[in-house]
Amino acid sequence: MSEQRPRIGAVKQITSHSNPVIKEIKGLVALRKHRTQSGLFVAEGLKLATDALEAGWTVRYLALGPEARDNPIAQKAAATAKSRGALILEVNTSILEAITRKENPQMVVGVYEQQLTPLERIDPAQSTVWIALDRVRDPGNLGTIIRTADAVGASGVILIGDCTDPFAVEAVRATMGSLFHVPLVKTSADAFKAVMAKWPGTVAGTHLAGSVDYRTVDYREPALLVMGNEQQGLSGDLAAACKTLVRIPQAGQADSLNLAVATGITLYEIRRKKLSL
Ligand code: SAM
Repeated sequence: MSEQRPRIGAVKQITSHSNPVIKEIKGLVALRKHRTQSGLFVAEGLKLATDALEAGWTVRYLALGPEARDNPIAQKAAATAKSRGALILEVNTSILEAITRKENPQMVVGVYEQQLTPLERIDPAQSTVWIALDRVRDPGNLGTIIRTADAVGASGVILIGDCTDPFAVEAVRATMGSLFHVPLVKTSADAFKAVMAKWPGTVAGTHLAGSVDYRTVDYREPALLVMGNEQQGLSGDLAAACKTLVRIPQAGQADSLNLAVATGITLYEIRRKKLSL
């Protein structure tokens, strides 16, 4: 699909919905299979394009709608992307709507190369807190957690087992650009348990059956915070591998907190002494 990419940047005007590059981008939005095969993903918006370029991610295509042509920040982003080999696509609003499957689409839509950090690259000596997510299913939860990880200065997010795709457009949207700043690791439960066994700091799982109030733990960085699946919670073997299982007290009738909310609450407690205004 993407073999036709020019080696040096270029600008192309596209008005046809059946243009092969437009079809390729639509495929990346629609299907995980296409993202996995190509190693590419779509992120909407000028802020995300600027974040991606600043953080050194590789831009494959940058589609600019009519509004972007008079916008100096969009033009600067396009010039930078082109100088790094991207193909700049000048498109109409109807094509942007079709790509993003939204009315009132953003004026810029980018296609970027995926980046993942290998598990072996995690260095506890250089870490604050890593958030490990056991089979997270909801792209909105994952994106929100990546954004929160960025906000608290976490070292990154580890995706354990069969997780939702962090490069799905809904997940990317929810990160609000933090995707480009937070390292992501994908691993199996077994490989992660080996990391847990040797981890020098706090290894805290959150669990509805946890006997420890999350506010009473003396968290030691580097920390690992392990969060459970939205339906099934934390798996038994990951729970058993945690040094402590903490619970967030609840009043009222809710069975549990939303995963992203529980992650945010616990992360702020872990990082409480390290963060100030
Ligand atoms: N039915 C699931 C269960 O029995 O665990 C509910 C999972 S909850 C929606 C998703 C995850 O958020 C949990 O696995 C846990 O990691 C965290 N969580 C939510 N509420 C929590 C609480 N009150 N205390 C500790 N962790 C909580």
